[in-house]
Amino acid sequence: MILVALVVVIIGVGILSLTLLAHADVETGEEIPPSANTSEQVKLKQLSDYYFFEEERSQRYLEYLVVYPNMAPEEVIVQVNLDLDTIPYTDSTPVTNPESLLVLTNKHNYLPRSYEPADLVSVGDILIRSEAAGPLQQLVAAAWDDGVSLYLSSGVRDAAYQEVLYNNLVNSIGVKWADLQSARPGYSEHQTGWAVDFSPSNYQFYETPAAYWIEENAYKYGFIVRYTEENDKMTLYIHEPWHIRYVGSEVAQFMHDNEIGSFEEYWVRYIQHTPSVQRGLPGMPVTGMVTGSQ
Ligand SMILES: [Zn+2]
Repeated sequence: MILVALVVVIIGVGILSLTLLAHADVETGEEIPPSANTSEQVKLKQLSDYYFFEEERSQRYLEYLVVYPNMAPEEVIVQVNLDLDTIPYTDSTPVTNPESLLVLTNKHNYLPRSYEPADLVSVGDILIRSEAAGPLQQLVAAAWDDGVSLYLSSGVRDAAYQEVLYNNLVNSIGVKWADLQSARPGYSEHQTGWAVDFSPSNYQFYETPAAYWIEENAYKYGFIVRYTEENDKMTLYIHEPWHIRYVGSEVAQFMHDNEIGSFEEYWVRYIQHTPSVQRGLPGMPVTGMVTGSQ
C-alpha cells in the first residue's frame, strides 16, 4: 500500500513538473519543436493534398525533401513520380505501351529492344508514324511560307542504329557528355516514331530563325519542343531546339495554354494520374481536362 502511494506521488510530481515546464514555454513564447515523426506527418499531409500523390512513395518524397528542403511540394511529387530520385538507366522501368501516342520514353523508361512502329510513312527522307506525317508536312510547309528554311534530318531510329550513334559519341566525347545529348539504345524517343530532328541537329541550330519559329509554332501542329533549357532538370538532356515530338494537337495546345514546360510534367499530371474535376484539389488544370490515349 505504501509502495502504491509512493508511485502515485512520484507520478504526480512528474506530471506537475511537465505541466510547469510546458507553462514556462508558453510564458517565454518559445515554440516546442514537434518531434521528427510529427513533422514528417505534417509534410505528408501537405503532399497528400495533391491528386498525383502516391502513398507508396511517401518515404521517397520525404527523403527528396531532405535533399531539396525548399522545393515546392507539388514539384517534389512530380519529380519523385518520375523516379528522378533514382539512378538513370539503372533503376529504369520497361515501357508497356510503346505504340501509344503519349508514350513516355526517357532515361527512366525504356522501350523493348525489338520495338519498331508498324505504321511508318515517309516525309521527305525520313520515316515517322502515319498519324504524325500530315501535321509534320503542314508544319514544314508553314515554316517555308513564313520564309524559314526547315530541313528534316532524322525520324524513326531503331535500337541497333541508336546504339551505333550513341557509341560513336561516347568514343569521341566520353560517357558523361554523350549521355547529355544522345540517348542510349532503347531510351530514345526516336525509336517510338513520334520524334524528328531538323538539320543541323547540333549547337549551330541554337538561336536560328528555324529554332525560334519552331519554338513559337510547333504546338499549332501537335508537336512540342521536347528538350528545352527550362526543363532540362526533368529531361536530363541539353536544350535541343531541333528535336520535336508529336503528341497530337489537343495535348500540344493544352501544354501551351497551361505553360506545362515538359512532357514529363504533363505525363505525371494527366496520364500517370488523372485529375478529378469534382475534387477541386491543388494541381488542377487551368482549363479543360485532357485524357491520354494510353
Ligand atoms: Zn532527336
